[in-house]
Amino acid sequence: MAALKYGDLVLLVDSKDRRYLITITPDGEFHTHSGFLRHSDLLKTKEGEYVELSSGKSYLVVKPTMSDVILKMPRAAQIIYPKDIGHILLAADVYPGVKILESGVGSGALSIAMLRAGANITGYELREDFANRAKKNVLNFFGEEILENYEISINDIYEGINDTDFERVVLDLPEPWKAVPHLSACMVSGGILVAYTPSITQAMRLRESLKSSEFVMEETFEVSRRAWHIEGQAVRPEHRMVAHTGFITQARYAGSLS
Ligand code: SAH
Repeated sequence: MAALKYGDLVLLVDSKDRRYLITITPDGEFHTHSGFLRHSDLLKTKEGEYVELSSGKSYLVVKPTMSDVILKMPRAAQIIYPKDIGHILLAADVYPGVKILESGVGSGALSIAMLRAGANITGYELREDFANRAKKNVLNFFGEEILENYEISINDIYEGINDTDFERVVLDLPEPWKAVPHLSACMVSGGILVAYTPSITQAMRLRESLKSSEFVMEETFEVSRRAWHIEGQAVRPEHRMVAHTGFITQARYAGSLS
């Protein structure tokens, strides 16, 4: 296992499973109620080892997973949660090199997951400040070289789409049905549309718009994830769960009927 270096993202985990995400910097210090640690001390450890804070308490040092980063990174807009992102990757069948139009990009959570699966993304985002936040989060996760596969333009997707030949269109917008009339000009036939909507009435309006266009094989679903508490004889679902986030709608673009 390689030693840690400046610029690495690491997750520090205490004995109560509290998790802290930090980027190791030359002058950085990590402070909690149980003491502090100089970032430079982390360079003497490897992933999977423990570091000791000034108080003598030890923290486990691991590289964060993509989900850890997505959940803890700074947000501009509300992100799509990992439980939904996993299913969006499958619904959109994201693979290395696939050409995707993503709108809006918000905080870049979904962008990170699709880029990691190898996608080439063009993002359409209404707000420049959100686009900048998404770009920062993406660069922080991957480094500069990712910009070959990631481009965001400041655009209102409801007004039209200038780029073409997208194999996938992935939408997280308040009114995705307003983007649908522009999709036939920008998607390859056989391409896949996936849209995430918090409310079922949004999913319903989207489905209505798909009916009157060249989309087929429509499906709408939600993802429930219920964690279990397992401790000795106490084996039961956790008392609390995230009961609702959003609905995922997928469809295929069939091109024009001839
Ligand atoms: N999926 C993102 C979050 C997107 S939030 C993530 O996981 O981080 C929704 C985004 O859509 C916001 O950034 C908002 O500015 C953008 N948006 C809203 N209307 C839009 C439009 N008409 N065209 C482009 N982007 C739009």
